[in-house]
Amino acid sequence: MRRQDGQPPIADERILVTGGAGFIGSNLVAALAPHNDVRVLDDLSSGSRSNLPPEVTVLEGDIRDDEALDRATEDVDLIYHQAALVSVTESVDRPEATHEINVAATVKLLERARAEDARFVFASSAAVYGQPDGVPVAEDASADPASPYGLSKLAAERYVRLYDDLYDLPTVALRYFNVYGPGQLDSDYSAVIRVFVEQATSGEPITVEGDGTQTRDFVHVEDVVQANLLAGAGDATGVFNVGTGESVTILELAELVADAADSSPEIVHVPARQGDIDRSRADVSKIEATLGYEPTVRLADGLEDVVRTAATGQPGDGS
Ligand code: NAD
Repeated sequence: MRRQDGQPPIADERILVTGGAGFIGSNLVAALAPHNDVRVLDDLSSGSRSNLPPEVTVLEGDIRDDEALDRATEDVDLIYHQAALVSVTESVDRPEATHEINVAATVKLLERARAEDARFVFASSAAVYGQPDGVPVAEDASADPASPYGLSKLAAERYVRLYDDLYDLPTVALRYFNVYGPGQLDSDYSAVIRVFVEQATSGEPITVEGDGTQTRDFVHVEDVVQANLLAGAGDATGVFNVGTGESVTILELAELVADAADSSPEIVHVPARQGDIDRSRADVSKIEATLGYEPTVRLADGLEDVVRTAATGQPGDGS
């Protein structure tokens, strides 16, 4: 993802990536680090230092901690806010912590962004929509989150927008759909891909929840990085979906994983998860028209990359 003149889209900036040691954050840091002064604030609760290049400054700390935030935001030009309590299930068990980490800490960070006049790019989620009325889901569809996690992302996103309206702080909120790719941690979003890959490569049957007709829009982390670079580089502000605009059923996914793993596992059905969303697919026309985003990684190719990484520990060149 390069500018037409061959220059990287963001260069010579001082950039903070919260949650930069995690799955999406570390991929973003890898794209930014060669051309920018990048620092990461992460409590390493799920992320790892080993995900990061040596030239990056790692501040180990919690986004709820004022001192850590002060240090991390000093003189920054651009803030990517990826750190969060990311598990829907955990959010149901811990609504108060979800609010503290995902909403209150975001407001603290927005205050620092305001003081530094730093552009702010926020990792929101398709979970803000809850059970969508129809697909594809556009940004102006009704938001009716079904978990403390989804509600916390919606509340934080509204603060992010409000700082733009009230204080003229340039902000973008990116609503990621189901992000997958090599190195993904055990997340609720794309856990199904990890599980299917493990099953297909170890010769176990693939376990599909329910009848497998539920659909998802799986977007490769490389395209999520592309969306973040575009959001950080230009002047555009607002809320944008980040997906592929296409979806697969979970049964189709099982077959694609089997193909990628070159295996023919048995597919067995297990009980559906309570409250599971039936249909999910992003309308990506707004981000395409406004930011020039274009999804580039086909699911079949992305899955081959995940399988190769699972087998060798090294991502391939398939994506
Ligand atoms: P991840 O768990 O890999 O990364 C989150 C990072 O934040 C980790 O490195 C973790 O150590 C750090 N962190 C957690 N709590 C912290 C705290 N209190 N203080 C400092 N650091 C803390 O998750 P990810 O999949 O890379 O998700 C990144 C962002 O994208 C999150 O905001 C998540 O809600 C959002 N998101 C992810 C997906 C997806 O499919 N993975 C979909 C929608 C939205």
